[in-house]
Amino acid sequence: MVTIVDTLNRPQAQSDARPRHPEKAHRPDNPIQRKPKWIRVKAPTSPVYRETQDVVKQNNLVTVCEEAGCPNIGECWSKKHASFMILGDTCTRACAFCNVRTGMPGPIDPKEPQGVADAVATMGLEHVVITSVDRDDLDDGGAGHFADVISAIRATSPSTTVEVLTPDFLRKDGALEIVVAAKPDVFNHNLETVPSNYLKVRPGARYFHSIRLLQQVKELDPEMFTKSGIMVGLGEERNEVLQLMDDLRVADVDFLTIGQYLQPSRKHHPVMSFVTPEEFTGYERIAYAKGFLKVSASPLTRSSHHAGEDFAELRAARIAKLGH
Ligand code: SF4
Repeated sequence: MVTIVDTLNRPQAQSDARPRHPEKAHRPDNPIQRKPKWIRVKAPTSPVYRETQDVVKQNNLVTVCEEAGCPNIGECWSKKHASFMILGDTCTRACAFCNVRTGMPGPIDPKEPQGVADAVATMGLEHVVITSVDRDDLDDGGAGHFADVISAIRATSPSTTVEVLTPDFLRKDGALEIVVAAKPDVFNHNLETVPSNYLKVRPGARYFHSIRLLQQVKELDPEMFTKSGIMVGLGEERNEVLQLMDDLRVADVDFLTIGQYLQPSRKHHPVMSFVTPEEFTGYERIAYAKGFLKVSASPLTRSSHHAGEDFAELRAARIAKLGH
């Protein structure tokens, strides 16, 4: 029998008295729609899944896989692929789509860089994705800590490739430069949605700042791979998605991910549509035509899903196109 798990609609930690999203508590409920059959995923049963869970716990780490209620956790953790979330589990922004806890974060854990590096080594990861909550409370937005984590991984696992998925470092002058100087292999920053949705979906962010951030990465280090992702099903128009692709290409972004938005709770933004697998294939075809080196577009695409395999393809695509 195939068990279907719905990680996004799981109950929040029962023992947790603190509300996860205090800013959303008084919002009207948005009923959660039944998902189409192409969204369902299997419940995790593999022993490797448990091993991954143990490594995460033993090193006292936070993963975006768990915090965001990612539907791919069964598949990814069964292949020993996890995305580590640094700088704590509490975000200073309050995006309408996101399931990560919001509030005032605690101090940075100085042991975290080595803890992440140890977990990477124990799991024998060839490629690792490091992301974080937004830390608008810190002078550098957490950029220095990103750099420390990258250095610790390099020292412990020199052959592991590192992908960072960063916040936008809005109003944090010099922060981006710190992360780029630490030389991650891939610099990812997600646009999340089309600009017309920003006010209601990503209110603390600015679309053109995020585009500019990605462009600056290439200006600072033309060899660094850049990547961005969006969710669809948030009420965007198809033409807006195509325009966004053009904006990313102007910023010389190499890799685009597009996945279906799923609603974490009744207090989050409603799903406006379930985009069909055929529509995703159409987006992928158009994005390649616009010049991206790599595109991943499917209902369950997430920016860190298959990140290792995708990085290998990205590298091969650049060599084929540019010879380096
Ligand atoms: S897709 Fe990314 S966030 Fe989701 S389980 Fe896989 S590694 Fe974790």
